[in-house]
Amino acid sequence: MTIVIQKFGGTSVATEESREQVIDKIIEAKQKGENPVVVVSAIGRKGSPYATDTLLDFVHKTGGNLSDREYDLLLSCGEIISAVTMATLLAKKGYPAKAFSGGQAGIITDDYHKSADLVCVKTENLTKCLQEQIIPVVAGFQGITTTGEVTTLGRGGSDTTAAILGAALHAERIEIYTDVDGIMTADPRICQKAKIIPEISYNEVFQMADSGAKVIHPRAVEYARRAGIPLIIKNTFSHCYGTSIIQLTGQLQETSPKSIITSVANRNNRVQFTIEDPILSEKDLLEQVADAHISIDLINIFPTHKVFTIDKEDQPALEALLKANDTAYEFLTNCCKVTVIGERMTGVPGVMAKIVKVLLKEKIEILQTADSLTTIACLIKEEHLIPVVNALHEAFGLS
Ligand code: ADP
Ligand code: MG
Repeated sequence: MTIVIQKFGGTSVATEESREQVIDKIIEAKQKGENPVVVVSAIGRKGSPYATDTLLDFVHKTGGNLSDREYDLLLSCGEIISAVTMATLLAKKGYPAKAFSGGQAGIITDDYHKSADLVCVKTENLTKCLQEQIIPVVAGFQGITTTGEVTTLGRGGSDTTAAILGAALHAERIEIYTDVDGIMTADPRICQKAKIIPEISYNEVFQMADSGAKVIHPRAVEYARRAGIPLIIKNTFSHCYGTSIIQLTGQLQETSPKSIITSVANRNNRVQFTIEDPILSEKDLLEQVADAHISIDLINIFPTHKVFTIDKEDQPALEALLKANDTAYEFLTNCCKVTVIGERMTGVPGVMAKIVKVLLKEKIEILQTADSLTTIACLIKEEHLIPVVNALHEAFGLS
C-alpha cells in the first residue's frame, strides 16, 4: 500500500474555493492509486472565525487566566473543526473519509502542555481506515497523553503531525501544502527577489526553519529526516513542482544553487536581555531559565554579565524570574534575528566579514552575532529587517 501524507495549512482550508483545491489534490493522489492520509490545520489565519488566534482572543475576552491545560483543549478544537469539514466535503464528492482528532489518530504525547513531545504512535485506527479504503483526515497540531489529556505540539505543529504520521505509517512521502510555491531563498513577503529552491537537504531546511523560516516546522524536518522520508513543500493553489527535502548526495548538490549561502531567514519578536550575573554565581540563573522552559538564543557570557535574546512572549516570565532572584537587568525590545544559511559555508573564511561589510554599508547596527558550521546570525533592530534581508540576499548572489 502506497501511503502519502498530505498536510494542508490554515490558508489552504480557509475558503470554500481553497477547500475545493485541497479536495482536488487529495483526489489526484487517490486517482494515482495512492492512499492519502490528510492532516489539516485550523481554518484560516487571525480574524477567521475558527482560527487559532480567534479562539484564543475569544476566551481571553473573559478576562480570566487560561491555564496551559485549557489552552490545549481550546486550541485543539480549531483543527478538529477543520478535519470534520474536510472529511464531510470528501464524502460529498464520493470519497469516503473519516475525521480523527490527534488522540484518535493515535498520537500519544507527554504531558508538557503547549509544546508536548511525542511518546509513541498507535497506528491501528488509521491503518484500519486505510484498509477499508476510507481517507483519514487528521486534526493536526495535537495529541493525547496516556491519561487522556489533550495536548498540543506547539505553533506550526500540524507539520509535525504530518511528519510523525509519515514516519509511523512508513509513508512514501510527506507533502506539505501551503500558500507559496515551495521553500524559497528568503521569505517572499520580505524579499521580492526570493527564488524557489527545487532541492535542499534536511539539514539546511532544519537550519532555516530553526532560524525562523515558518514555511516548515523544524521538528517536522527532524522526524522526516530520521525516518528517511522525503518531505515535499508544495503550493495548494498552483501545479508547481515545489521543493523536495531529501538527503542530498554530492551529485544532487551540484544542481542546487551555487552560492555558498542557500537562504536568508529571519525571526522577529526578539528581546535582548543583559543581566548582571557573574559566571560563578550561586544562583545558576541559566538553569532556572531553562527550567521555566524559556528558550534562549544568541548567548554571550562575560565575567560580570550575560547577554542573550528570548522571544517577546517569554519576557514577562523571564522578568518575574530575574526579580525573584534580585538580579539587575536591562532589555532591548523590537529586535529581530537575521540568519544566513548554507552547508557550503563550512570552512570558508570571510563570510562574517562580508556580512558585516554589507550591514555597515547600509548603516545598520549589529547588536549581537552567533555562528555555527552552517549558519551566521545577526541581531538587529526590527525596523532594519527588510533592508538587511534584501541586502544579504543580493550580496550572496541569491537574487
Ligand atoms: P501554513 O498555514 O500553510 O502552514 P505558514 O504561514 O506556516 O503556512 O508558512 C507559509 C509562509 O512561510 C509563507 O506564506 C511565507 O511568507 C513564509 N516563509 C518564511 N520563510 C520562507 C521561505 N524561505 N520560503 C517560503 N516561505 C517562507
Ligand atoms: Mg505552518
